[in-house]
Amino acid sequence: MQRSLRHALREASRIASRRADSPQRTGTDELQKWARAHLGGRRLVLVSNREPWSHHRAADGSITAVRNAGGLTVSLDALAGAVGAAWVAHGSGSAARETADAEGRLPCPPDQPRYTLRRIWLDETDHTLFYAGAANSMLWPLCHVVFVRPRFDADAWERYREVNRRYAEAAIEEVGPGDGMVWLQDYHLALAARTLRERRPDLGLALFWHIPWPSPEVFRVLPWRSELLEGMLANDVLGFHIRGHALNFLQCVADTLEARVDFERMAIDRQGHRTWVRAVPIGVPAVEIGDLADAPSTRAAEQAWRERLGIGTAKVILGVDRLDYTKGVPQRLKAFGRLLERHPHWVGRAVFVQVGVPSRIGLPEYQAVQRQVRWEAARLQRRFPRREGQSVVLLEDSLDFRDIVPLYRLADVCAVTPLHDGMNLVAKEYVAACTDGEGALVLSPFAGASRELERAHLASPFDIDALAEAYRAALEDPAADRRTRMADLRETVLRRTVHDWAIEFLDLWQRLALRTSRSDPNPGGAG
Ligand code: UDP
Repeated sequence: MQRSLRHALREASRIASRRADSPQRTGTDELQKWARAHLGGRRLVLVSNREPWSHHRAADGSITAVRNAGGLTVSLDALAGAVGAAWVAHGSGSAARETADAEGRLPCPPDQPRYTLRRIWLDETDHTLFYAGAANSMLWPLCHVVFVRPRFDADAWERYREVNRRYAEAAIEEVGPGDGMVWLQDYHLALAARTLRERRPDLGLALFWHIPWPSPEVFRVLPWRSELLEGMLANDVLGFHIRGHALNFLQCVADTLEARVDFERMAIDRQGHRTWVRAVPIGVPAVEIGDLADAPSTRAAEQAWRERLGIGTAKVILGVDRLDYTKGVPQRLKAFGRLLERHPHWVGRAVFVQVGVPSRIGLPEYQAVQRQVRWEAARLQRRFPRREGQSVVLLEDSLDFRDIVPLYRLADVCAVTPLHDGMNLVAKEYVAACTDGEGALVLSPFAGASRELERAHLASPFDIDALAEAYRAALEDPAADRRTRMADLRETVLRRTVHDWAIEFLDLWQRLALRTSRSDPNPGGAG
């Protein structure tokens, strides 16, 4: 293990130094080259609740394979393919079972198989208690501090434990008997590493937490906080998007468990095991998005949107979100109303287009936000009618990414105004799509992305006047200032793509594992 690790590290630094010299941006090919050289013979198993590909049966009986959107899926799909990994996830489509074998395995991507997707099955009760209950009514509101009270339910937590165990068992089967690394994704899987560590102490284990981590004052209301932290500390490495969340995590461990928390090294030693905590901000597949933005088909689709939405010569402010109470959509629309009140020369000359993907609609908080957004959009429509079309267009649909990129191109301003968000990929995708250097980003300081995208128009969604003023500035900035801002934003987004993120995290993981194996054999001891 040690020798193969060292060899992999030498190869990795050779490739990393080549990458640093090269002006070429990191895309799928670079990630694949890097992963082949870096991971050696070790089996990589990815685990996420959401599957990268789902199969659906249409009314006419045919089955279609759908690639589930999002930067994370694109990158991990490339990584899984590069090393022939296994990916364990919940089989979610209506044709999930019939497209997998008896163990739930199927080759992916369906048209060009390069890795194995291992589906696990969640029944109705799992969905209610594990997914809607523990993950989305407990951990999601606990970690997004937006004054929605988490609902703590012992049955939901018990089911969360049980489903995490099932994910871990499937991952162990996929690793097989040899060396292996299991990379868990997100807040659905906080306890899986515990089972993995008990059954296979030799495996490398890491978890990336894609949502914020709260401060200790907030965290301590969770009745099962010790168990949650212990589960996470079974990993060798924990990743967060921003340093503030990583530091919150360290502080929560210090306040909750008997452990040695080293804020300097960002490491936790507990019961002879060390966990490293790191901030590695995720990026987007910027190269691929730029290519798509420049494709003639995208230009045609942009024009089609323009006509379909009755935009004419008006300026477009765009929002693209799941309808989630963390995203600040009602606040964003209110601020558009304030802009039109305060600066009436924009009435009729600016249109707000909001994509609102229905999300978690069984939960009352999500029904409430959907009602609020519809109400706000209708109210603005009545107050500020436009002759050529609507002044607020609400598209309540889940769009294919190929339909979103033309909207990014159409938008003069993109409004990303979450009340709290781990990163927010839409902000970076919009910037990646602005290949002509035109466009402006209005961004909440409570999105993780704001740490990097400092040249956006930053405005708080809790301050409607300030947000309205940010819209005005974004619309009225002199062209030279607007282009300079966008050039800076693009430099940032292109410099760290989602592929860089995957490379950086794996690289860190391997280097830190070496440090742990060389360090004090009893890291929980004194000194
Ligand atoms: N997205 C999509 N279709 C839609 C709306 C959004 O594919 O109709 C994608 C969007 O391009 C982005 C992701 O969903 O990649 C949303 O990620 P983000 O981090 O902004 O928010 P999340 O929904 O993960 O909280």
